[in-house]
Amino acid sequence: MAQRNSNIARLTAGYLFPEIARRRQEFSASHPNAKIISLGVGNTTEPILPHIANGLVQGAQRLSRTETYMGYMDEGLLELREQINKVIYAGQFNTDEIFISDGSKCDIGRLQWLFGPGARPVVQDPSYPVYVDGSVLAGAAGAANEYGYDGIIYMPCVLENEYFPDLSKIGKESLIYFCSPNNPTGAVSTKEQLKMLVEKALKTDSIIIFDAAYSEYIRDDALPKTIYAVDGAERCAIEVNSFSKSAGFTGVRLGWSVVPKALKFSGGESVNADWSRVQSTIFNGASNIAQFGALAALDVEGQKEIRELTGFYLENAGLIRGALRELGIECTGGDNSPYIWARFPGENSWQTFERILEKCHVVSTPGSGFGAAGEGYIRFSAFSHRDNVEEACQRLKTRL
Ligand code: PLP
Repeated sequence: MAQRNSNIARLTAGYLFPEIARRRQEFSASHPNAKIISLGVGNTTEPILPHIANGLVQGAQRLSRTETYMGYMDEGLLELREQINKVIYAGQFNTDEIFISDGSKCDIGRLQWLFGPGARPVVQDPSYPVYVDGSVLAGAAGAANEYGYDGIIYMPCVLENEYFPDLSKIGKESLIYFCSPNNPTGAVSTKEQLKMLVEKALKTDSIIIFDAAYSEYIRDDALPKTIYAVDGAERCAIEVNSFSKSAGFTGVRLGWSVVPKALKFSGGESVNADWSRVQSTIFNGASNIAQFGALAALDVEGQKEIRELTGFYLENAGLIRGALRELGIECTGGDNSPYIWARFPGENSWQTFERILEKCHVVSTPGSGFGAAGEGYIRFSAFSHRDNVEEACQRLKTRL
């Protein structure tokens, strides 16, 4: 028999969301009449708006005509890369610095091939699970310990430091995963903070993988939507983003990465050239239908729809945050992000999760599932239908 990858065996826990689903099912089985509302996972619930949906339809129709049929498009539509460059990055890049993909999670997984087992991962704690679990799979982490994994540096982001980490933990030649607006805390880094991060990365010859998956939720114009708002980031940062949470493409699958040509490995080699090599080796390009949908999302009408859709979820977030604050629960996020991060001191996260499920029949996400520093917190997601959010808020206010 072929041997199992020993890195998989090293993963300590099942992925967080299947575990939540298992507990929800268990509760459902013992409470068959309970109407459970999920404010747990970050999966979108609202339909794709008409102009963008029409872009997808047109994309599909192109495939049914000889003159417009397209097959593999490894690098992505040139027009789409041009539009991303123009609309998101104000023309800062060349089109060969932008890579179209099937989503940012997939890109984060594949990016780890660039650095391999020798990577020195640094993560915000709590963090989106793929940064840590992907590092373990890539062989870049050691044995599990009581905090996380040997070889991974954890930078706590908690109420006491206003969810921005102490960067002094970043050592030489690190691979820094950084997410803003943050999942799960909902915190958004200021330009000053990102400047500090970039300075630290440049000083330590580190590379940042900046996850901007929630950038379209930023409403405060002073907050940066991309790491490249900071000078020098093109020499130390890769950015990933997608249309999942902005246009409702979670199931459509379309994302991109930016790998500037100015970015080099410690030996001076081009990161961009290696990324192109990795992508062409293990990825065959994003769906061309999805790419036409994304093109529609980037024109004037599409941008309006993105604002409308993200605005809807932000209103949900405002309702949830309002309900929690009425209860005197300390929370952050929800203003420039779809997540609300609530503190429940004196109780562990899974206990709070169970208590909210038992009393309110509401599914949340235990903070400890995102890392040790998430202990004592609960994440509420604004991705839900409005009537569900209203009912969940009512239940939280009256039963918690
Ligand atoms: N990055 C963060 C921080 C996320 O929360 C998510 C999804 O929840 C992703 C990336 C994955 O997005 P995509 O659908 O583009 O793979």
